[in-house]
Amino acid sequence: MTFESLGLHPSVLKALTEAGYTEPTPVQAQAVPAGIEGRDMMVSSQTGSGKTAAFMLPALHKFAAQTETQPQNGKTPNQQAQAARSRGERPRFKAAQPKMLVLTPTRELALQVTTATEKYGTYMRRVKAVSILGGMPYPKQMQLLSRNPEILVATPGRLIDHMESGKIDFSELEFLVLDEADRMLDMGFVDDIEKIVAATPETRQTMLFSATLDGMVGNMAKRITKDALIIQI
Ligand code: AMP
Repeated sequence: MTFESLGLHPSVLKALTEAGYTEPTPVQAQAVPAGIEGRDMMVSSQTGSGKTAAFMLPALHKFAAQTETQPQNGKTPNQQAQAARSRGERPRFKAAQPKMLVLTPTRELALQVTTATEKYGTYMRRVKAVSILGGMPYPKQMQLLSRNPEILVATPGRLIDHMESGKIDFSELEFLVLDEADRMLDMGFVDDIEKIVAATPETRQTMLFSATLDGMVGNMAKRITKDALIIQI
């Protein structure tokens, strides 16, 4: 099997070739086509299985196609702020409206996911991924959010802080990913996750990855997904 045969957008394929990926891993071979079809999924897979690309490639594929059909004369948030200043107005802070949210249990994993996303999205015209992490200074995070990134990769606690202070608006969210969901539950993030999920639109596509789909994590997976494809690697 090849990545071409999965039907990915050429700009994504180009980045994969450059990364030296010749064929999809087993989890990618199942999750990428289902993700492109728009399906929810619960995936039992380990670290090192290629799960980051399994959830990121379908989203980047969709964003690449959307970018092609969008007019290119829109102003960036920076340009809008500059225009407001030149009219003598104080630019208002506008909440970030991400299209994708990836929740991870740790800062390290969040940073890895962000780095991988930048690699897979190298040839896309406009796709920004930022990490929102506990322990990072607030001004820096506010600056990152003010660029209105398409993709947020976050640990649950810090994300809740920003949501509650009105810095993030999930009304445009298309993809919700829970990465290493079992570890997030083990770390006591269950209430935070429930709160975050409740703030996202019902129309979202949800992909949950976990070492196991038994017990508490399986129950949560069932609650937050719709007609999910179950993938066991
Ligand atoms: P992950 O499980 O997402 O942390 O990925 C584990 C490692 O495998 C990372 O270093 C990826 O860059 C690499 N990787 C993921 N997918 C592929 C692939 N299809 N071919 C070769 N390497 C890959």
